[in-house]
Amino acid sequence: MKELNHVTMANRTIRSVSGESPAAHRQTQTEPDKLQFLQLAEWDEYNSYDEDIPSCLHYSIEWKVTVNSKVVSKDTEQDLVLAPTAYWHIILKPKLEKLLRKKLAQNRHVRCDDTNVIVSVTGRSERDLVKRFDDVDIDWSIIEKQLMQWGELFRSGKKLRVDLSFNYVDAHPSSASTPRRGNKRGSSATQTMLVDRAAQLDAEQETTGNPSVWREVYALMQCPGPPCNLGPHCWRDPFGKKHYKLRSHHLKALINYVEQGHTLKSHGDVPEAIREQLFAEEHQRLERQPKVGRVEGSLVRVGADQVRVEGQQVRVE
Ligand SMILES: [Zn+2]
Repeated sequence: MKELNHVTMANRTIRSVSGESPAAHRQTQTEPDKLQFLQLAEWDEYNSYDEDIPSCLHYSIEWKVTVNSKVVSKDTEQDLVLAPTAYWHIILKPKLEKLLRKKLAQNRHVRCDDTNVIVSVTGRSERDLVKRFDDVDIDWSIIEKQLMQWGELFRSGKKLRVDLSFNYVDAHPSSASTPRRGNKRGSSATQTMLVDRAAQLDAEQETTGNPSVWREVYALMQCPGPPCNLGPHCWRDPFGKKHYKLRSHHLKALINYVEQGHTLKSHGDVPEAIREQLFAEEHQRLERQPKVGRVEGSLVRVGADQVRVEGQQVRVE
């Protein structure tokens, strides 16, 4: 709490002189000097945000997944600028879910026991923030607050980092519902995950801007996965059932649409303007494909920090 007091006092100092100089006055109004994360609406997923003089906070997330204390996967998200709460919803959580589907046998039940979080800044002047959350109910507001407090250290060249360890254990279903060996119960692991996610989203509702809208939109647009590999989010055209990959700007548009009071309960409710955008982008994509030979894969930017090769981009179910 020491750092927090310090920051508060510094702000008060600025305020106390605010009447004396226009510059100081301006600072109290918008605090332009304080680096912020980008919010969803201002974030451009195609921008690498490679800045000599940072205009916003950059950070990285190193994350791993353990099952029964054994590490099954590790990954790093580098040079992030999108606010951690939004990054979690849009990129990281779908990635984690996809990874679990991929790494675990279909009939294996796992549940998330807890998530360990370490928020740190390079250099030893500041202590790490170490937190533990049940399940994946991470209170991202605490993490954001801590990173923002280190904004000045970041500006002076220090690096901000969040380490996450998602710790899963085998879930032992009660004896009454234990599937027999060889019994085909493929979807139950997914079912468990869906239930977990609903509980987690309820918890997040307490901490984020307007998560009930996010929740609705993400849940509705989440792609059921194979045979489609476009996900994590797709619009499924009610006519023809073709999947169209939804990128963050499409999801943003859908969130806006709901926030304006429109109904979005099914894929048929997706407004014409967004459909046209998706059709146009699909058309452009097909135009860009080489005329000769089969397309083995085309480069698609899927985030600020990565490029993925996708072979079959569109599937008809
Ligand atoms: Zn899909």
